[in-house]
Formats: sequence, structure tokens, C-alpha cells
Amino acid sequence: MKSNWLETLLNQLYPQSCLLCGAQTDHRSRFCDPCYQSLPFNHHACPRCALPLPADAPAETRCGACLKSELPYASCRTALRYEAPSNHLITQLKFRHQLHLTKPLARLITDRLGELQNPPDLLLPVPLHQQRMRERGFNQAQELARVVAKHYRIPLEDSLVKRARNTKAQSDLSERLRRNNLRHAFRVHGSLQGSRVAILDDVITTGSTINELSKTLQRHGAAEIRVWAVARSTIER
Ligand SMILES: [Zn+2]
Ligand SMILES: [Zn+2]
Repeated sequence: MKSNWLETLLNQLYPQSCLLCGAQTDHRSRFCDPCYQSLPFNHHACPRCALPLPADAPAETRCGACLKSELPYASCRTALRYEAPSNHLITQLKFRHQLHLTKPLARLITDRLGELQNPPDLLLPVPLHQQRMRERGFNQAQELARVVAKHYRIPLEDSLVKRARNTKAQSDLSERLRRNNLRHAFRVHGSLQGSRVAILDDVITTGSTINELSKTLQRHGAAEIRVWAVARSTIER
């Protein structure tokens, strides 16, 4: 979306500083041009699960895991790879309450997706369990989804799905335990019959959270699921 006249005026009145180097910038993304160019964009990635692939991999190459097994979602797209400096920015947002990072990070997602030919019916942020929500004070996926939903004028659905159990932090667990940890982790309060859903998250690590959530949405009638996120780690699913 083009920056509007108000934004242009505000940038002139209150110049912004680049989130990475502090240089003055009027770039709407809040990164100066050299820093924006140096971001670890996830352009070479598996078209199904967004796993970063080598730069010389032919377009539309699927990763080994996606050649072997199917996924409960149609596609996953992320703006960045989860490495420096994107990991630092996401950690700042998530654990240090740097909420001013929400908009710039969400804009990286909309920059990556561009114009949507076939927009989803609703945008669904990965829910946090109530207890974690109380501890953190906000759900970063919900904050990012708000910006993306507004940009594309897609309805935001943030009360239909709840986290049923307070699962352990996935990063502390092995792959097998991750799957067990997430079983029945989500509850849907309503119907998704025939809906085309986009799930939004901050980081996709192995994809076990979005797998479990997608399966739950499918059981409740979702017709098509796609996944959008700021960053994807290089860990295979
Ligand atoms: Zn910079
Ligand atoms: Zn893949």
C-alpha cells in the first residue's frame, strides 16, 4: 500500500530513525535503504513450508520434508529468515515489549506478499494461552495480524480459536515431544465451514504449532489454509 499524505507529512515533521543503525530515515518501513537491503529476506524458500533453501535452488523447489509428506496447509510464506538481525527484532517485540516494532515487522510481511489475487476470508493470529497472555500482556501474533488485516481489509478473527492448554515452550522440546505437547492444544468455538483462512504468526520454527492449528481448523471445516509469518528458521519440519 502506498504511504498516504498524512504519513508523508508526519515523516517530514518527525523524521524516524532506522531500527537497525539509528540513521535518520523517512522510509515508511523504518529501515534505512542499506539496512533494508541487507535484511535476510526469505526469497529462496520451499513454496510449501517456507524452509530457507540455498540461493541456487531452482524456483518452486520443494524441501526434502515436503517431497516426502503432505501438510495440512496449502502454503507458508515468510518475509525473512530467522537469523540476525530478524531474530533480534522479533525477540525485542516479544520479550521486551518493544511494540513499536509491530508495524515495521508487519509491513515486511505485506511487502513480501504484495497484492493478493485471492485474499482469504479471515486472518487468524496464532492464539496464546490466557496465562501467557497475562504474563506478557499482549499476543505478538495478534498485534502483527491487526496491521496485516487492516492493510488487506481482511476480517481479523481473534476469538474463534483459543489455546486449550498452556503448552510448554516448544523450543525446549525435541521434535517428538513437540508434537505430543501440542496435541489438542487448540479449541475452536464456532464454525469455519468453507472458510479460507490465513494463519499469522511471528516465527515459524519447525512448523509443529501451525501444523496442529491447521489440523484443528480443518476438522472444523476450513476449506483452505495458508500461513504467513515474519520469519522462518532453518530447522526442517
Ligand atoms: Zn539503517
Ligand atoms: Zn518444505
